[in-house]
Amino acid sequence: MIGGLDAPLQGVCSRAECREVATWRIDWRNPRIHTGDRGKTWLACDEHVEYLSGFLEARSFPVEVAPFAASDDDEPVGDAGTATGGRP
Ligand SMILES: [Zn+2]
Repeated sequence: MIGGLDAPLQGVCSRAECREVATWRIDWRNPRIHTGDRGKTWLACDEHVEYLSGFLEARSFPVEVAPFAASDDDEPVGDAGTATGGRP
């Protein structure tokens, strides 16, 4: 169950017209439209992680950037309420 996400996490940068493999995930929330722990997750490549996070920070949205590793592991991506970082 992926709650509050409009787009699936496909391991590709969320920047328009960028098809690079994402190495970062950007979890953010617009307090005006997202309530509680609902929010969105963008993925970003190395080149665009600063652009995308800066875009959100400029709007004073809560932004959390974390490493993202696309894999075929059976671990669900975007598992609500569970931190997915910290894997070796
Ligand atoms: Zn990109």
